[in-house]
Amino acid sequence: MDLINKFKSKSSELINRGLNRNVRIAVTGLSGAGKTAFTTSLINQLLHAPMEKHLTFLSVNVQNRMLASKLSQHEELHIPAFDYNNALAHLTSDIPQWPDSTRNISQAQIKCRFKVGHRWAKRLQSDSTVTVEVVDYPGEWLLDLPLLAMDYRDWSKACIKYLNSARRQQYSEDIQSKIKSFDYKAVQDDVALSKELKEIANVYRSSLMTYRNEYNDYGLALPGRFILPGSLKEAPTLDFFPVLNEDVLSLNWDQFEQQSTLKVLEKRFNYYKENVIKPFFEEYFTKVDRQIVLIDTCSVLESGYETYQDLKDTVEKLLEGFSYGRSNWLKRLFSPSIDKLMIAATKVDLVPPDQHSAMESFMQKMVAQAKNNVGYEGVEVETMAISAVATSEPVATEHEGVKLLCVKGIEEKTGESVIHYPGRVPDKGLSRQEWKELKLDFTPFAIPELSKDEALPHIRMDKVIEFLIGDKFI
Ligand code: GDP
Repeated sequence: MDLINKFKSKSSELINRGLNRNVRIAVTGLSGAGKTAFTTSLINQLLHAPMEKHLTFLSVNVQNRMLASKLSQHEELHIPAFDYNNALAHLTSDIPQWPDSTRNISQAQIKCRFKVGHRWAKRLQSDSTVTVEVVDYPGEWLLDLPLLAMDYRDWSKACIKYLNSARRQQYSEDIQSKIKSFDYKAVQDDVALSKELKEIANVYRSSLMTYRNEYNDYGLALPGRFILPGSLKEAPTLDFFPVLNEDVLSLNWDQFEQQSTLKVLEKRFNYYKENVIKPFFEEYFTKVDRQIVLIDTCSVLESGYETYQDLKDTVEKLLEGFSYGRSNWLKRLFSPSIDKLMIAATKVDLVPPDQHSAMESFMQKMVAQAKNNVGYEGVEVETMAISAVATSEPVATEHEGVKLLCVKGIEEKTGESVIHYPGRVPDKGLSRQEWKELKLDFTPFAIPELSKDEALPHIRMDKVIEFLIGDKFI
């Protein structure tokens, strides 16, 4: 081979390597936000795009450059696989069902082969592959981030404040008195102590679940795995709870024996920080390129003022990790790699299309501060109202002589086709009084009959995909 050809072949090899690109997307949101449905639809849309060319806002698809895509085994073998085939089987079965919700971290990988479009690059290589890795994990785990900056005493103080807020005091009295009656100085056999701690921790954790399920209380003071333990269910590292006695908190803890209840609880808290929170964020912040955070805005709008305020705080906390530059302590621990963040309002198929922009504006107001903070760090942030699996179609009706856009779907109870108007979605934040007057009803529809052989019906998944990975298809 002469020198020029050798040079050509070398540069071609280098460019080839450069063109074979990997992109890691993380999907998160609080439980019920729609992560499993979203991840299933994302994979489904990518698998169908080369055949159906249906993603009209995905440039590579519109330009007819998607050649083929397939599911493949992901490289991080320690992360459980996202069971796409099972999720799709649920959605497309004779009696369609939603797949099981996200309770742990999971991952899937899709390889997309495409025709290179770039003027120069295509001279050296006509086609290339984008490997899309999708990681799905509970948003509750993101809320643990501030715990890294706290010790056990700080955390206990934060819990006291949380449990005694005007709203929670009434329903947290029982668990508070149970925990307060503990003898923190006592030293006992470690097996007996572990058993006792497990019992109380179980009660504490289930109280927090009750607050969430019965009072729509999305508190901030929880370690994420108290709500969604993932693979840590029954692990002793979760068997701790805060000290709620102010007098114990004001003592010098050097006087406590290493085997005392207090010291054992403190050790568990530290163990949780070191062995659960840190590795998760290390993996998560250093290896993710693009992030999507899902918010079930429909259920926020149905729940009222207090839940809205709660959820707004929680979502702000959840997004705080992405404005990492603001916290130097965090920067020292991890070096984050996310350069694009999408915040999406889910289940917008329950809303008539002429109100989607109001839904998006409402959510934008809710996350405005957090969005600004993240954007300030140079991360590109976008908001959108989407539906992973659309269960309805829009219909125009007339009400008292006025045209009204509604949604039509299948009623879950009767299986009949019904037309529904959910009410008017606000496009801004509301006062307490306005919340009282708000009358919205996003009754879900049944999933319509879906075919395994066609792409799932969706709303704006193509725009989401374009934002998240469109630039990778050069
Ligand atoms: P996760 O807990 O975040 O994984 O949430 P899931 O993906 O399991 O979704 C929770 C529930 O929300 C599902 O069981 C569905 O009832 C509903 N859901 C999720 N995505 C959609 C959607 O795109 N449209 C509609 N109408 N409902 C959805």
